[in-house]
Amino acid sequence: MRLDAEFLRSASKIAECPRWERVEIAFAGRSNVGKSSLLNSLAGRKNLARISKTPGRTRGLNYFTVGERLALVDLPGYGFAKMPRSEAERIAILVRQYVCQRRQLKALVLLIDARRGPQKEELGLAQLLRDPSSSWAGNYPRLIVVATKCDKLKRAERAPALRRFEVLDVAPAICSARTGEGIDPLRREILNLLSAHPTTASSAAAEDELS
Ligand code: GDP
Repeated sequence: MRLDAEFLRSASKIAECPRWERVEIAFAGRSNVGKSSLLNSLAGRKNLARISKTPGRTRGLNYFTVGERLALVDLPGYGFAKMPRSEAERIAILVRQYVCQRRQLKALVLLIDARRGPQKEELGLAQLLRDPSSSWAGNYPRLIVVATKCDKLKRAERAPALRRFEVLDVAPAICSARTGEGIDPLRREILNLLSAHPTTASSAAAEDELS
């Protein structure tokens, strides 16, 4: 199964997100977690996610379309030490608004370094999805947890490393963009979400093409 993604545009605020009825699947993680590499592996493209790293785009929501009904949204990486505090706060607010309000969001893929396990930021993001005050009204987006760079774990290190993820209550997909481990099942899970959320042809046709 293929996941052919094309860059559409970067949104620096919620109002700039496309008006459409596509299923959106967002990818979040601290900078350097391996998000670009994972997106490239999922899409089978070498430099797809480099687009998100070009100046002016690192701080926005980067939209990639896949076929007629799906979009992948690369959320800005957080936790970058050299970023000014005000900028980090702006990004945190943007991500929070997106995750809590975006009706089209059907799953959040939360990337966490397999060697590090979830930290305060990741627990906060996971919590957002279950926040009763969000606009989800019980229809929460799915949380998909990805443990990245698993090739860096020795065999004996896996079990203790994975135990650190238990606090999230979601078993992580153990992945490596380097060896390809876990990539096919993750791609399948993403594509399966599409079947779980059928969109009507008329609403798909109502897409705005502002790009
Ligand atoms: P991003 O900042 O989250 O987009 O992270 P990148 O995809 O740019 O990766 C950050 C660094 O981690 C780069 O040096 C990558 O080569 C490395 N990296 C990414 N994925 C893997 C992986 O699966 N295994 C290993 N060993 N290194 C990885």
